[in-house]
Amino acid sequence: MGIIDIKNLKINVPLSKFTTMRVGGNAHFFVEPKSINELIKIIKLCQKQKIKYFILGNGSNVIFSDIGYNGIIICTKKLNKTKIKNNCLICECGTNLYVLNKLLINHGLSGMEFTYGIPGTIGGATFMNAGAYGFEMKDVVRKVMFFNGKKINISKNKNLDFSYRNSIFKKSNFIVLKVWLKLKKKNILDVQDLCMQNLKKRQVSQPFEFANSGSIFKKVNGISAGKILDELNLKGKRVGGAEVSNLHANFIINKGNATSNDIKQLVQEIKQEVKTKKGITLEEEVIFIP
Ligand SMILES: Cc1cc2nc3c(=O)[nH]c(=O)nc-3n(C[C@H](O)[C@H](O)[C@H](O)COP(=O)(O)OP(=O)(O)OC[C@H]3O[C@@H](n4cnc5c(N)ncnc54)[C@H](O)[C@@H]3O)c2cc1C
Repeated sequence: MGIIDIKNLKINVPLSKFTTMRVGGNAHFFVEPKSINELIKIIKLCQKQKIKYFILGNGSNVIFSDIGYNGIIICTKKLNKTKIKNNCLICECGTNLYVLNKLLINHGLSGMEFTYGIPGTIGGATFMNAGAYGFEMKDVVRKVMFFNGKKINISKNKNLDFSYRNSIFKKSNFIVLKVWLKLKKKNILDVQDLCMQNLKKRQVSQPFEFANSGSIFKKVNGISAGKILDELNLKGKRVGGAEVSNLHANFIINKGNATSNDIKQLVQEIKQEVKTKKGITLEEEVIFIP
């Protein structure tokens, strides 16, 4: 079997349609496997044929280059089966965080409310150890089933090496297949209320009306990069169609016609200015795929 025989394989797919920043060229190959078995088979085939692959969730933390991706993009969105057992949610990696939270509200299960409004998948959130309002994925993950490039493993939270926006999956390039979340039984209205409170906080502080990738830079010694950028009056700074949001300085927005290069250049100029004026080296949270 060759790569071209993969079921439902698409060719020359614009990645701008699969990332929240809405930039990037075409993926040479693109596939959305419908089962974990199918996903593993595709990866093994890529390994055998030495074809470059990239696992994509909802594309809310990645920016592809304008040239596109010369390999196969494996998008997890169709791997979205969920099961609730003893206050634990077991979900496949492509489960959307919005859908997941709606399910938890309906069952009165608390613990994931901090992710309400994060436009990602559970696989991307676990890989990134996504966090907000004092909580991180490491606080709710019980265990994870993953593929290490050779075989499938299941590991408990304590072995997953979670730290600020990092995990064993990111460090070792492992693929998150299934996540077990430990939750607490609560009143449905209380879970819903906390989700809505968190969403409102996002709605007033984040530029919802423009395409973006969330926070561009990581915190520096606990200080938000947005605060540093704000102090340097970088809000509104622009390269082509990319602009530092006037609402939140750590967000770059696509004013409609931005290219990936515009964003990269703006990021470089910001880093340079912060280094020169404050002596601080900013590090990207968002992932650029060359
Ligand atoms: C408006 C907005 C608000 C945001 N708010 C927050 C926030 O409050 N806190 C926060 O931490 N982040 C936030 N983000 C960033 C982003 O949403 C999170 O990092 C999210 O968890 C990424 O999930 P994703 O499915 O979109 O991942 P993607 O962007 O698709 O991928 C991100 C990385 O994860 C890898 N990946 C994805 N799925 C898997 C998998 N199954 N196995 C292995 N690797 C995988 C990809 O290869 C890539 O390297 C925000 C983004 C936006 C646009």
